Amino acid sequence: MRLLLVLGLLLATTACGSLGNDSGKVRVAAGFYPLAWTAERIGGHRVDVTNLTQPGAEPHDLELTIKETVAIAEADLVVYEKGFQPAVDDSVAQNAQGATLDAATVADLEPFADQPDELDPHFWQDPLRLADVGDAIAAELSKADPKHAAAYDAHARALRRQLVALDHEYATGLADCARHTIVATHDAFGYLRKYGLHVEPITGLSPTPSRRPPTSGGSRT
Ligand SMILES: [Zn+2]
Repeated sequence: MRLLLVLGLLLATTACGSLGNDSGKVRVAAGFYPLAWTAERIGGHRVDVTNLTQPGAEPHDLELTIKETVAIAEADLVVYEKGFQPAVDDSVAQNAQGATLDAATVADLEPFADQPDELDPHFWQDPLRLADVGDAIAAELSKADPKHAAAYDAHARALRRQLVALDHEYATGLADCARHTIVATHDAFGYLRKYGLHVEPITGLSPTPSRRPPTSGGSRT
């Protein structure tokens, strides 16, 4: 039933022209905010980015609406992180027709400190890992839109310069801290240990004790 609805919507949106690209922009669907932000930085005005996790939604346990399923189906590029949002993984496998980029394949994930057999998906806390994902997005956008490859490459290099500077600021700014322990709702900040920080998560690996979406605002990644 759901698939039929999606197909119906797709037919409705593609009936008048070639698959979607009327705006001339590269359509990107991004799993959650850090990926959407990076895609916007690399693509600039040449991309139209849909963040599949709306503000206030819980990224881990995200459930997709028809609108987001269509965004995945129509995207020239889906940027997601396999294993982080099962609903997105499923929809990408079933519906994506364009290119897909799994950020986990370029972010060089490390295991959780307290759970060595599970990889920590929260790589974007490390500016240098986010820069690597930026490079990969630039490469994918260049394949989708070769005419503007030089611009995507320049944006990726500019973003990397900023993220390298941020990494340096973190390292020098945190070098003289009297305390090194930070308390977080869940274990989302493990990549900050490269700066000597130690994370004490209140609810462990899970973003919520019950794995249910929070009842009041706040976007938790
Ligand atoms: Zn998280």
